[in-house]
Amino acid sequence: MIDLVIRSRRTVTPEGERAAAVAVRGEKIAGLYDYDAPLDAAEDIDLRDLALLPGLVDTHVHVNEPGRTHWEGFGSATRAAAAGGVTTILDMPLNSLPPTVNVAAFEAKLRAAEGQCHVDVGFWGGAVPGNVKDLAPLRERGVFGFKCFMSPSGVEEFPPLGDSELREALTEVAAVGGVMVVHAEDPALLGEPAGPTYREFLESRPGESERSAVARVVGLAARTGARVHILHVSSASCLEVLESAQAEGVAVTAETCPHYLTLAAEQVPEGATAYKCCPPIRSEANRDLLWDGLARGVLSCVVSDHSPSPADLKVPDFAAAWGGIASLQLGLPAVWTEASRRGYGLGDVVRWMSANPAAMADIPGKGGIKPGNDADLVAFDPAADNAVDAARLHHKNPVTPYHGRVLKGAVLTTWLRGRPVDDVPHGRFLLGEQ
Ligand SMILES: [Zn+2]
Repeated sequence: MIDLVIRSRRTVTPEGERAAAVAVRGEKIAGLYDYDAPLDAAEDIDLRDLALLPGLVDTHVHVNEPGRTHWEGFGSATRAAAAGGVTTILDMPLNSLPPTVNVAAFEAKLRAAEGQCHVDVGFWGGAVPGNVKDLAPLRERGVFGFKCFMSPSGVEEFPPLGDSELREALTEVAAVGGVMVVHAEDPALLGEPAGPTYREFLESRPGESERSAVARVVGLAARTGARVHILHVSSASCLEVLESAQAEGVAVTAETCPHYLTLAAEQVPEGATAYKCCPPIRSEANRDLLWDGLARGVLSCVVSDHSPSPADLKVPDFAAAWGGIASLQLGLPAVWTEASRRGYGLGDVVRWMSANPAAMADIPGKGGIKPGNDADLVAFDPAADNAVDAARLHHKNPVTPYHGRVLKGAVLTTWLRGRPVDDVPHGRFLLGEQ
């Protein structure tokens, strides 16, 4: 017995785009059939020429609850995710209070999130100075891996690791499994902005600081045997280091974000600190090289790094404003707008935003329309004009650099494990297997 059939002439499967009928039984994808196959189901939906995608997997989201829930919370973040076609998020360990650096803090976060989640939610633990002994228990409780910084994080309760602490933490990660995800900027090459302008902010965080930090992480990964993932690559100067390490068999993957792929330093309006993030959005020429890195597979994931704050922390001074871009609900149309302009297909976007992040974090049952996976599905109109009004997003704070832009593509319906996402939260916690 089949509960639901969704038909689309543009079903994006791991093998590519095809006309297909996706059969759902309970919470799972039961099978893929020809588009017009006669199937006996309780509900039969025909999307015709609209696309059917697997739910996106966003492994880089700062939910900020508990403690900074006025920045973003599980209810608002997961509503925004679903509206943006994202059915799985992994929450970052910092900006919430307490940060997720031991099991007690993780339990506090699980309690805070309980009953609020409209999509499935997994968690990263934090690796900070002095908590190596907490990594194994956190992993046992179900974090998918750990996040660390090499430079100051922006909040004092989550300090960076020095080189010897990073080596020690990576040695532990190699033993307990999972992946270490690293914010890689070399603090020795970062400065204070000389003034309030975007140019001065950009000059204070040169691409070389990313390249230098990535080279050190790659060296330590090779020596310790830990699996590492470089977060939010902004500078194309990292690509050569990553590519040669990958060719040598070092277990290193890397991501970039919608803002680095779609925005550019040349277009940042003065004072528009909705565009401020660390590492910064760089030049148009650098952006083209990031697209080449994605095409070659050196960068395998595109995830949001959704890191919102209240509007009053986004003062019009690039030296003083909070660094973080809010885009959870907009990643898919933003990336699709630019990807389609550059000749990429929906299959590419789905690989970068669903299949590869699920594989990187090792999340079972997610990331592709195939039998046995969770029936996380998205009806997407790839041709729709999508005018962004920050005030109408589900994000808690109406601040985003995409405000006023017309993006291409709109999410029409999101199904989580076979059910359309609605006002009743039926997301679940995803706990990593050791
Ligand atoms: Zn982040």
